[in-house]
Amino acid sequence: GRLRLIAAASLEEEAEAVAAAVRRWLGAGRKRIALVAADRVAARRARALLERDGVLVQDETGWKLSTTRAAALVDAWLEVVTADAYHRDLLDLVKSPFLFSDWPDGLRPAGLVQLEAGLARHNLAYGLSRYEAVLAREPDGGEAVDMLRRAVAARQRMPRGTATPAHWLEGLLQALHELGAMPGLERDEAGAPLLELLRTRLEELSAVPARLTFAEWREWLNRELECATFVDRGIESPLVMTHLAATRLRRFDAAVLIGADRDNLAPAMPRALFGNLAVRSDLGLSLPTEAVARLRNDLAGLIASCGEVTVTWQIAHGDEANLICPELGMLAVFHDHAWGDDLVSSAGPAPGPAAGPGSGEGTAMPRPAAPQCVPLRLPVSAYASLLACPYQFFVRRMLGLGETEEVREALEKRDYGEYVHRILQRFHAGRTQLSGESDEKLVDALETISREVFAPAIEENFAEHAWLSRWLKRVPGYIAWQKAREAGGWRYAGSEQPRERTLVLADGDALVLHGRLDRLDRRADASEAVLDYKTQDAQGLRRRLAEPTEDVQLACYALLQGERVSEAAYVALDGEKPDELALQDVQEMARVQGERLVAIVHALRQGAGLPAHGIDAVCDWCEVRGVCRRDYQAEAVLP
Ligand code: SF4
Repeated sequence: GRLRLIAAASLEEEAEAVAAAVRRWLGAGRKRIALVAADRVAARRARALLERDGVLVQDETGWKLSTTRAAALVDAWLEVVTADAYHRDLLDLVKSPFLFSDWPDGLRPAGLVQLEAGLARHNLAYGLSRYEAVLAREPDGGEAVDMLRRAVAARQRMPRGTATPAHWLEGLLQALHELGAMPGLERDEAGAPLLELLRTRLEELSAVPARLTFAEWREWLNRELECATFVDRGIESPLVMTHLAATRLRRFDAAVLIGADRDNLAPAMPRALFGNLAVRSDLGLSLPTEAVARLRNDLAGLIASCGEVTVTWQIAHGDEANLICPELGMLAVFHDHAWGDDLVSSAGPAPGPAAGPGSGEGTAMPRPAAPQCVPLRLPVSAYASLLACPYQFFVRRMLGLGETEEVREALEKRDYGEYVHRILQRFHAGRTQLSGESDEKLVDALETISREVFAPAIEENFAEHAWLSRWLKRVPGYIAWQKAREAGGWRYAGSEQPRERTLVLADGDALVLHGRLDRLDRRADASEAVLDYKTQDAQGLRRRLAEPTEDVQLACYALLQGERVSEAAYVALDGEKPDELALQDVQEMARVQGERLVAIVHALRQGAGLPAHGIDAVCDWCEVRGVCRRDYQAEAVLP
């Protein structure tokens, strides 16, 4: 028949039904096809499906200018101005392809990488001039600094405080020019109308004396961009996306009306102003009955003037039923009475994802082998990663894929740990022995260093006082613990000590294990202790040491330091007093770990696979999770 009503169970089903109808019509040689978008979301999804098949759609309805890349650039720049160049806003801005179009190819991406890495390295969250000052000291940040200089210059073009709308617009245009965005915007389908809009408003408002704050002006500008539409005229296609009213008096070979439910096709009702029908009638304004009649006429006109019409709608939104619009519902009832067919059919199920959580299927556990990529120089942390999950080791150490560093706006637990390490290193560098000095004096000295180390973080964010207070509460306990160690014969002998040890593989090649000892103590008899500070509670560490062969870190540190080590312990610094948790049979454990490492590396070089078999506690914190697709592995292969 000429008319079909397709009931879809979901957005995806509806979009797929639309795309299927269009493909069928194109296959049958139809030349003019209308996609009548009552539901823009479903229409866009259908359009995406068609474009995936290489079928382009000529969009008559257009896009709001505010949704274009060009408007996103303006928005990103104004965000930079608003929030003193908050680092995320700045990176969003610099990622815009319109920027720095006067630079040779490759310079902008290089600058972006330098900028992103530089901000993360120095933990810079705000301030254009500050970014510039810090990165200018870097030896290889040339492009990033040039970018920042241009951003600073662009910022200077914008007024400060209040200004007339014309001044704000002028400042914005000059800033875009300074950022090298003009050529790209002029060439862009949406950029050109955006610039035209800005210039037109600048001209229109040049005589307006009212002064606006930045926030007021921006609100006005946002409204302008919301109201303006942009139509991409670069596409010519037999497929036209349009709206119902625009189909009047036009002929199409076929049309699909998308989202024809009672909400999307509700007749336009008069606004509250002059809502009284008698008043509206007297004033000659449109009445609800006319809106209903107009909708019916439009629907009838569409059906009459098109060779074939398919109507789609979703039968439910969430848990609620979603009815087809009453006019089409009535048509279905009449058709059923007259010819025993209500014209309604169901959309076929949309093709689902290949596999996913709950899909009942799953991918196989990855188990790559790469004997030629096995590194022969490993830090202790890499060995720990290899034991925790070989695939994690493969991705991190053999493929060299790591997480990008990000600016940390607030101190995290690991930063706190680093600060405490730094404080203790400075404290002991000036005092290798505490015995003989008063507790008050020592506490005072350690507190002073602590305040100095935390000062820059507190200057950035006053809330970091909480971390300092947390540490200061531990200071007296630490002094007492250190004195007790000295009474037991141990003397501080250094911290942050780099060490490495060469192991010999079965084929004679050398494997170098290396690491950095948090702290080394020594006794008069030359026996040694390797200590590792931990800013966590003792309970977790105790569990970690319950199975001594499973703890890699202390045993490997003992292996690195050598035969004189008689003690290896974690020092838990989170309680009132430090808690020492020692590894039993240190030298034996060091030997076991050394032999195990040699055997594993040998096996990997012989082609052994690296399965992704981390346990939950490891996977929960693993940045490689998206690569190993653990969440998509079949239940059977999960550990
Ligand atoms: S998520 Fe788990 S299984 Fe996957 S790589 Fe990380 S640790 Fe291994």
